[in-house]
Amino acid sequence: MSTHASDIIQSRAAIADGAGNFTIDVIEVDPPGPGEVRVAIAAAGVCHTDHASLRWPGPLVMGHEGAGFVESVGEGVHGLRPGQPVLLNWAIPCGECFQCGHGAPSLCERTHGPDTTHAGSSRAHAGGTRWRGQAIERAFHLGTFADYALVRAEALTPLPDRLPPDPACLLGCAVMTGVGSVFNVARVAPGESVAVLGCGGVGLNVVQGARLAGAATIIAIDRVAARLGRARELGATHLLQPREDDNAHAELIADVLALTDGRGVDHAFEATGVPALAFLPLRLARNGGNALQVSGAHGAGSVELTDFFWNKRYLAPLYGGCVPARDFPRLFGWVETGELQLASLVSHRYPLEGLAQAFADMLAGHSAKGVLRIAPIAATLPVGAAEAATGISAAAPPAAPAATHAAPLPLPPPLSGGGLGWGPGSSPRNAGAHAPPSQPSPASGGRGQAQSAAIRRLLPPLLLGRTSHAASVTDDPSATRAWRSPFDKERMPTT
Ligand SMILES: [Zn+2]
Ligand SMILES: [Zn+2]
Repeated sequence: MSTHASDIIQSRAAIADGAGNFTIDVIEVDPPGPGEVRVAIAAAGVCHTDHASLRWPGPLVMGHEGAGFVESVGEGVHGLRPGQPVLLNWAIPCGECFQCGHGAPSLCERTHGPDTTHAGSSRAHAGGTRWRGQAIERAFHLGTFADYALVRAEALTPLPDRLPPDPACLLGCAVMTGVGSVFNVARVAPGESVAVLGCGGVGLNVVQGARLAGAATIIAIDRVAARLGRARELGATHLLQPREDDNAHAELIADVLALTDGRGVDHAFEATGVPALAFLPLRLARNGGNALQVSGAHGAGSVELTDFFWNKRYLAPLYGGCVPARDFPRLFGWVETGELQLASLVSHRYPLEGLAQAFADMLAGHSAKGVLRIAPIAATLPVGAAEAATGISAAAPPAAPAATHAAPLPLPPPLSGGGLGWGPGSSPRNAGAHAPPSQPSPASGGRGQAQSAAIRRLLPPLLLGRTSHAASVTDDPSATRAWRSPFDKERMPTT
């Protein structure tokens, strides 16, 4: 096929203005220079970070989670060919700095300082992407909310043909951050216990990472029942839904302790993005355990020094400690064997023009992960057919998305399993799902009536006495509004 490597391409893009707004407009994207690749984006995940980027210094092409097809490659790029499916990663390693040389490419100093002024490192050539005749920056030097992105080759990992960009795009942020934090940072071992605060895009991947690591106890914590339902399907063994008025978290902490013989979990993760919750994992972790803030929460939080007692480690990992060449092939393998779920993470799909709705659904807690189908046809066709569909062979502006994608695509079927199993004789907030047979769950009475009573005491009144909770585990907006998480009321989670 012809790559038209010398053509400037017109591309739709979502452009943030720095004041909280965005517009969809046409940008110009240069052909790739040395070491660069121009990618036709097929699908892009929507993160809370993208919403935050509306107020980053603008204008800015948004989007940092994405997958697509190589459109053309610049000089000196090896191992990537036009038409090849690729995954984009946003912690682009230079391969040369102190951190890259010390095995921590996700902390590359040319991406995250102190060496961000170094020419030709993690970003494509200056002025290579333009809006209204002026150079424009791209989120994380990617800008995946666009038909085309001009990036460094180091930002790309070849994607197996069998993994379609939707939902494989999620591997580039939410999955890597969650699963990577479990394996690379906490190093969860078989048989250990894990608690996860917040079951959004990252939290759900902490859950399934913990399952992959062989954790025996995986406690998912969220105010939104639908999220807990997804967490259960991805491997959570216990579900906790804190009360809105449990402000000091005393009841939540007591519940977690009760599930771990009064000791606390081996690894406690915060994945809400709420600064006020950033230190809470310290109070859920056992002595000598790990507390991890994996949401990238910003802002002020307070902590009692005694929360660190004793020998607890507090970690704030970036991008799950990603080493692209090591971690992405491992994730691809797990997806191909079915051990890692991607499709069930996606609750909504939108065209690029549906970004406002995607943000609204995310902020309201309606969506697990929303995906923008930038090139909806290409995302569902084999690579050969996708080349034509993505407009790779033409320099003209890409076609508008098909009319059938003018509205969010239908929701997936309601979560299977007939609800959360919150019925008489079990603890509604503590369903004990997926507990190994050898480990009787509290829900089955394995730990005694006193604890069941204590946990039931924390239930929101609406849930008490229900024999079925199916109505609240769908994405029904009214149900979500009723149980809107305080995690949603403050600063939004990062992913
Ligand atoms: Zn580096
Ligand atoms: Zn993200």
